[in-house]
Amino acid sequence: MNISIPPNYLKYITKSKILNFNKCENYFKLNLIQSQDGNKRKSPILYNLENDRVKELARSLYGKLEILPKFNDVLEAFRETQIKIDAKISISHPVLISKDLIASPDLLIVLEDGSLEIVEIVTSVNAKKDIEVFLSFYLLVSKELDLPVKKLTVIKINSNYILEESFDIQNFFKFVDYTNKVENSTALVQNTIESIRKIRDGVQDENSIIHNICSNIKGCSFQSACFPDIKDGDLTTLRESSNIINQLYDANIFKLSDIPIENYSEDLTKKQIIQIQSNKEELEKYNINNLQSFLDRIKFPVYYLDFETINPQIPFYNKTKAFQHVPFLYSLHIWKDIESEEPEHHDFIQSNPNDPRPSILKSLSELIQGEGTILCFNDFFEKRCIQESVHFLPEYSDWLESIRGNFLDAAIPFKSLDYYSFKQKGSASLKDILPALTGASHEHLDIQNGHSANLIYLKWIQSFSANNIPNGKVLEQLREYCKMDTWALYLIHKKLLEICK
Ligand code: SF4
Repeated sequence: MNISIPPNYLKYITKSKILNFNKCENYFKLNLIQSQDGNKRKSPILYNLENDRVKELARSLYGKLEILPKFNDVLEAFRETQIKIDAKISISHPVLISKDLIASPDLLIVLEDGSLEIVEIVTSVNAKKDIEVFLSFYLLVSKELDLPVKKLTVIKINSNYILEESFDIQNFFKFVDYTNKVENSTALVQNTIESIRKIRDGVQDENSIIHNICSNIKGCSFQSACFPDIKDGDLTTLRESSNIINQLYDANIFKLSDIPIENYSEDLTKKQIIQIQSNKEELEKYNINNLQSFLDRIKFPVYYLDFETINPQIPFYNKTKAFQHVPFLYSLHIWKDIESEEPEHHDFIQSNPNDPRPSILKSLSELIQGEGTILCFNDFFEKRCIQESVHFLPEYSDWLESIRGNFLDAAIPFKSLDYYSFKQKGSASLKDILPALTGASHEHLDIQNGHSANLIYLKWIQSFSANNIPNGKVLEQLREYCKMDTWALYLIHKKLLEICK
């Protein structure tokens, strides 16, 4: 595929361009065109608000700090930065420009001896390598400008910090000294800058997008640009290793149903072969013996359990960590015995900003007894939510011990492909298994996934104040969404029983 990058898109080389280039050269080019054309994918507003609050808190640790206003012209911002540096004033949002390189770290701190410290506030889980690369880039620009940078620091959220009654900002953040950790990335940064310059200056053919450098086709939004011939094909839905996708693409095979299994039997995994066969025959595939073994592990009464959680960066419930998932809602269907027609339903949602864990544990411990099976989709998550809540409320430890061995992961038959339907389109998520297996779906719901539920509830409690009790309609939508997940588990269980009858 040919694309055209106007040279002015590469007038300046920035941190994000360097990181994108190292991720994948095609990604760098395609992302550049997309973001310059104004189509940049935006993060949810609430996610950005959380990031902004963390950065604001980190900045507050530096007393005398001036915030450089946003300038429309980067050169003006650079001039203002120079004025502040000359006046020995520490600043937030500095803009450093050397030739075609722009570095804009979060903070530039003037140290007592007049030297400088570059500080970056990292709010998400950045790869260590990426941090080294962009700090090395900042250092290179600073050196070209003859700035006396003596220290490189990254401020991270301390994942071990536990909120104890009042917020302790000093312990919430972790300061990591990178001054002596960036040297190994210097050559990589220099080479990347040279490669980008060659593309911009036309020394290298900047127009070609080649697919065989791809290492992340399944997770990339640019797959149709790099693999244009796939069009309506479903090759990228092939489960497990994606290495074979390039091989098949080069052989002009774009649909799973067109793969001659016998020619690729050495390269395809067992699960991939099941998936391909299901597509070819347009039939569901299952292994009765394995499904029956799974069903034999389920004892009555069956508790179908699902939590919805929030995981704020800045913890606000006592004795929680940053990013800890705290359940605010559960749905529980209980199928008492195989003779009873339908399961009974229970749920709980915290309808005010108070800590939801005491009510959730009290309610669940009354409903879930020591016998039977607790069926969850990816049960690790539900177990962890209960475990961490009990850590805070140890009076429920005995109850947890009495049920700990009763959890069972409802996803097991679908991860192992003991059941697979071509209708799942390669997915093993509950939302895709449910319609494929039973015909029911989540489509009618206002809330469609757990991530949205998380953000919606977080926004709801953050808008709660003495003068404002937010509309409760959203709580009903959350309850409906969670209820559908446990109803789905029941429907799936029942369908598997029918298959094995
Ligand atoms: S589909 Fe692959 S090659 Fe294309 S941009 Fe994404 S990761 Fe890079």
